[in-house]
Amino acid sequence: MNGHRGSGWGHRCGGRVPADPGGGPRPFALPGDPERFRRARPFDLTHLRLDIALDVPARSVSAVAELTFSRRDPDARVLLLDAVAFEVESVTLAAGDAPLPFAYDGEALQVTLGALSSGVVRVRYRARPRRGLYFLAPDADAPTRPEQVWSQCQDEDARYWFPCHDSPDMRMTTELLVTAPSGWTVLSNGTLLERTRTTADAERWHWQQTTAHPSYLVTLVAGTFSELDATRDASLPVRFYVDPGREAEGWRSLGRTADMIEHFSALTGVPYPWPKYDQVAVHDFTFGGMENTSVSTLTERCLLDERAALDATADDLVAHELAHQWFGDLVTCHDWSQAWLNEGFATFFEHLDVERKDGRDAYLYNLKQHADAYFGEDDARYRRPVVCATWGAPIDLFDRHLYEKGGWVLHMLRSELGDPVFWAGVKEYLTRHRGRSVETRDLQRAMEDASGRSLGGFFKQWILQAGHPELELDARFDAEAPRLHVTLRQTQAVDAVTPCFALPVTVSVMHASGEEQRHSLVLDDRSRSFALPCEAAPRWVSVDPDGALLAKVTSSVPAAMLREALAGDPRALVRWRAAASLARHDDELSVAALEKALRDDAFWGVSAEAARALGELRGRMAWEALSRSVDHAHPKVRRAVARALGEFRTDAAAALLVGKLKAGDASWLVESELAKAAGRTRRATAYDALVGALARESWRDVVRIGAVEGLGALRDARAIPLLLALTAPSVGASTRRAAVGALAELGEERREVREALEQLLEERDPHLVPEVLRALTRLRDAASVEPVSRVLRMTDDGRVRRAAREALRSLQSREGSEELRRLRDQVEALRDEVRAVRDQVAAASATRKTERPAASKRRR
Ligand SMILES: [Zn+2]
Repeated sequence: MNGHRGSGWGHRCGGRVPADPGGGPRPFALPGDPERFRRARPFDLTHLRLDIALDVPARSVSAVAELTFSRRDPDARVLLLDAVAFEVESVTLAAGDAPLPFAYDGEALQVTLGALSSGVVRVRYRARPRRGLYFLAPDADAPTRPEQVWSQCQDEDARYWFPCHDSPDMRMTTELLVTAPSGWTVLSNGTLLERTRTTADAERWHWQQTTAHPSYLVTLVAGTFSELDATRDASLPVRFYVDPGREAEGWRSLGRTADMIEHFSALTGVPYPWPKYDQVAVHDFTFGGMENTSVSTLTERCLLDERAALDATADDLVAHELAHQWFGDLVTCHDWSQAWLNEGFATFFEHLDVERKDGRDAYLYNLKQHADAYFGEDDARYRRPVVCATWGAPIDLFDRHLYEKGGWVLHMLRSELGDPVFWAGVKEYLTRHRGRSVETRDLQRAMEDASGRSLGGFFKQWILQAGHPELELDARFDAEAPRLHVTLRQTQAVDAVTPCFALPVTVSVMHASGEEQRHSLVLDDRSRSFALPCEAAPRWVSVDPDGALLAKVTSSVPAAMLREALAGDPRALVRWRAAASLARHDDELSVAALEKALRDDAFWGVSAEAARALGELRGRMAWEALSRSVDHAHPKVRRAVARALGEFRTDAAAALLVGKLKAGDASWLVESELAKAAGRTRRATAYDALVGALARESWRDVVRIGAVEGLGALRDARAIPLLLALTAPSVGASTRRAAVGALAELGEERREVREALEQLLEERDPHLVPEVLRALTRLRDAASVEPVSRVLRMTDDGRVRRAAREALRSLQSREGSEELRRLRDQVEALRDEVRAVRDQVAAASATRKTERPAASKRRR
């Protein structure tokens, strides 16, 4: 499943968590969350035959489900089936259709089997599913929405449309016989056996999945689609299904699928395990994508127009859902606590696809961005072990610890073991557990068997414990000895969940000769010092030059070394880390080095980090350097420059950004960033341009969304009525969410804003409502407690529930306040004034050109 992530296709805004003014990470578990254990399983269900007719206008189904069962617990007499809000017509034994006694309370169907140890239960029912199976139709607010029906069963929503044992550790073969309007396409798992006309206006599609899979991977998608055949090898059909008329977008966005299938099969040593691979792009999908066996559902928002393809991609989503066909589908997390075995692998394969397509530097930069996303959640929200068993709803776990950190752990394991051993371990893991449920221990054992190593310590500190090292390098050359004195420290607070890590750390020393010396050191304490042989003063020293550790790395080496590394290291990772560290050196030489990297570096990620560092420096020189690169050839660098320019609260910055926004850019995403950055300058002069940009049509409304976020950041109360208007149901879903976020910036102590937001809590959109809850949390008005409590009572959506519980926790506690936010704003304003004064002083004594590192400034 894909959807919560920063780069994700689901809802960038929905996943954003504002920093809580109260400070540090808070516990993941909320009051009352129980510890989870395996669910009892007195019977196995081995086959589901579901004959289901769609009544599209009524948004309902009538169905006959036949479930093949066999007893596991010798004392069990009652088969319990999950089935929510069904109208059960009859329950019989399929053989002879003899009635079976049953009891049904609207959530669980209890069928009395007596002494029967195996057989087939037949359930006839009707349902109008609230979840699990979604019926789309055009309406007054969305007149262009197509008629579609699609399922989304993860985590435990299959029970809303067919009876089952809705846990990931129960696997069954399935057959779906779906009656749908004629002319529609119906997709499901496995192989299409038959398509027959049943009446003048209906057809029945018979799909069969002969490899057992869990209920959450069962799917049904029906609608009018254009089929694109991307089959490369006749034995494995590969098809895309998109809205008619969007074929070019389909090819542009999904066209690398067959390549990826070959690549992932080769990497894992296990050929693609299902009889076909289809991808279908649907409207209003509740996630970014879903890896149903042999047929992934994707949001149609992943489809790229020509301009979007300049600097956006759907490859990450395609790679993610495809990788799940092995990790999640072929081997499945035993229970949701272990879900990183699904999501971590799927995320890791996104990186592997980038590595193959764009090379090692791009692979590591992708990992860096994921690390930042995980650090963000860890800083602002909570810290938890990747595997933890105390939670409210399964969806609570589908966070950045699960995806981004999970993917990182696999990258670290790969770095630790080396490619041949790591991939042998992966193959062993997949082969040994094919068609079964897995726990972390199973992966650990497979890797230990392939490597001959003990990996208990690795899995304990990275998976069962929480946090990450905050790693500091100090390096000092002693010419007399001659030696290089290196000190490594891990400075994170060690607490009940966060360990002091045992780490292999590589330190690279680059000599004047151009030769590199690598030292493999071990940091297994808070601090260790090493005296390394070194004949002459090194040009630069770097720690973890291969990016093998999920750590916040700080290097306290002199600025001159950082500049040399930025200019000369062959590894982009060392260069971008040097750029980041130079954000603490506000001197002419360092700014010049950053500008050169911004302008000329061969890898765009280094240029982007240089831009970011210049934005952190602010100051006149940094401003000039950034403004000279505003037309950089690479769209992702232009985006970074725009973002950095938004750090300057000056009329000049606002004018530059507004001018660029009005002129337009080849890239949608650059335009969007220009709008956001213009707002962040907080100059009233940006207002009109941002209001103008609200009317600009663009791919996925990204420019309008940028303008909305810009208006929020601008903090200009004139925008409030405009933003309120953009929360209307007829506005696009992403724009509405952005408007809600912007209103949180502006709505402080404004009753009309708070009440308008509270009104939105009545809606059903599982992305919008959490955004509204977060906005109300930021407004911190105790009057919101009642409407938020009402959401908690009414909702059946896990994401909404979690957001409501977090909102209540904040609203009812006294930690943090708007007062803090005001103080923070004042400090920022003061800092800007200090910079301006310093620039004036510097200009007055411009003849002195000595290098002088600024007093240590903490990175924000
Ligand atoms: Zn996933």
